Amino acid sequence: MVCFNFRSLSCLGLCLVLAGSGISQSAGKKPKPPSIAEAKAFLEEAETRLMALSVDASRANWVQSTHITEDTEILSAQANERAIAAGVDFAKRATRFDGLNLPADMARKMKLLKLSLTLAAPSNPKESEELTRLVASMEGTYGKGKYCPEGQEKCLTLEDLTRLLANSRDPKQLLDGWAGWHRIAPPMRNDFKRYVELANKGARELGFADTGAMWRSKYDMPPDAFAKELDRLWNQVRPFYISLHAYVRNRLREKYGDIVPAAGPIPAHLLGNMWAQSWENLYPLVAPKDADPGFDLTEILKKRNTDDRQMVKYGEQFFISLGFEPLPKTFWERSQFVKPRDREVVCHASAWDIDNVDDLRIKMCIDITAEDFNTIHHELGHNFYQRAYNRQPMLFRDSANDGFHEAVGDTIALSITPEYLVKLGLLDKSPNASKDIGLLLKTALEKIAFLPFGLLIDQWRWKVFSGEIPPEKYNETWWQLRQKYQGVAPSVPRTKNDFDPGAKYHVPANVPYTRYFLAHILQFQFHRALAQSAGCQGPLNRCSIYESKEAGRRLSDMLSWGLSKPWPDALEAITGQRQMDATAILDYFAPLQKWLDEQNKGKPVGW
Ligand SMILES: [Zn+2]
Repeated sequence: MVCFNFRSLSCLGLCLVLAGSGISQSAGKKPKPPSIAEAKAFLEEAETRLMALSVDASRANWVQSTHITEDTEILSAQANERAIAAGVDFAKRATRFDGLNLPADMARKMKLLKLSLTLAAPSNPKESEELTRLVASMEGTYGKGKYCPEGQEKCLTLEDLTRLLANSRDPKQLLDGWAGWHRIAPPMRNDFKRYVELANKGARELGFADTGAMWRSKYDMPPDAFAKELDRLWNQVRPFYISLHAYVRNRLREKYGDIVPAAGPIPAHLLGNMWAQSWENLYPLVAPKDADPGFDLTEILKKRNTDDRQMVKYGEQFFISLGFEPLPKTFWERSQFVKPRDREVVCHASAWDIDNVDDLRIKMCIDITAEDFNTIHHELGHNFYQRAYNRQPMLFRDSANDGFHEAVGDTIALSITPEYLVKLGLLDKSPNASKDIGLLLKTALEKIAFLPFGLLIDQWRWKVFSGEIPPEKYNETWWQLRQKYQGVAPSVPRTKNDFDPGAKYHVPANVPYTRYFLAHILQFQFHRALAQSAGCQGPLNRCSIYESKEAGRRLSDMLSWGLSKPWPDALEAITGQRQMDATAILDYFAPLQKWLDEQNKGKPVGW
């Protein structure tokens, strides 16, 4: 589940800063160097102003998302522009205090003001305008993208094609849908090339080597050291991914025959998802015999006539059991739980903190399903994080790094074990350990299959931004990386005129992607550590931290720091480790790894 918490400062969407002009000096005279008192006053002004604008923008966005009309769209766009413009202005003005020896918390705030940006526009107004237009236009091309099959009247949207890739088992139909969607991207290719040039120019004006280096600077370590960290984490988990890949390839070969090679990469259109980034739609096809968990949470919830409010109450109860305060009364009055019948809304699940203090809400269109039961626990993770850091100064009201916010919700969702469902009275008896393979395989198809994809998008973009990948090699290197990391390959020939990276939203929309890779690593590391403090002795996949005050105290201490300390401090507070560590994934899936090894015996592994 990828969701969105609105904070104008974190600039999740399109965020621009005009570089350079903030340090322009009036001709001839050198300005007097600023004092620490001036820096303090500047930060106070920035925090007060950004807080007010952020609250305005959140209100406008909430109304827009829960009641879509032309007017609410305009009002929210205006509020966002005001908040972004102020963020840009403060980032520029912050450079005036460069070189001043500030107390640590003030220095951190100055740094955050400058690093909250994902795109730096050059100081030349013409170029800056061109860059804004390019990104808006690429995002528009993506948003309007449709595949219109020849001889058919109806064009297919990405939603239609997503359903097709998830559910069809006809390889011709799948390939047609896959190739059809990828045809939306070549028109973006030249725009993308120009966007890279201009974005780099802006980043260099701010003192970064290129835009990729600017993105990598947000992690409390040198950009190159951060890149090495990611390699190290991937190498920890890669052997397990390769086992999963080999097992799935064999089962797909049984289903589809020779179009799936015995020892090569898997054709990209057969994995149940447009980008092969998550394979859980294949579960019915690859499920182990005799290891079905034997219960269906969706059925149980429906049979009990559980309603949307009760679903959310279950989620809240989890956090209360850890020692958190119940959600405020306004949460229940102001959230959107069900899809209204009389108006258009954005149904994509999200968690909100309207006033950056206590006006917490979720926005969902809840279906009574196991999937939404999970999603509610995930979204409430954001809300409890937001409230935990609400006493921090404005600039520190965010997660320790961008992977943490997503990881916390997912960590809680990992505690939705059969034993937890028994405690809630939803299940009479939890299945024995022989059924774990089914549960683990399902989770692995969702979360482990994601890892190489979560990594490679920015591996490709960093090299594009640095110039290591020239424009004529955009598509070729994209597939080299997809083969190297994911072990997937296209089934129809690609040429240098194709632009397949553009068929994934985050590339045309300029949204960094590494946070999702981090979140997938961190959630297992958090889960292992919290399960230990909860005193869980059993296998990790059966541990739930439900009702553990000790795990809750650890978690809530770290959450309350927000962004005030470097993330290794926050990680240490929960796990005792200062390094991210993917071995928790190996621990969690140990029974599955053993089972996969047996299934893969005598068969090719790797590609
Ligand atoms: Zn989320």
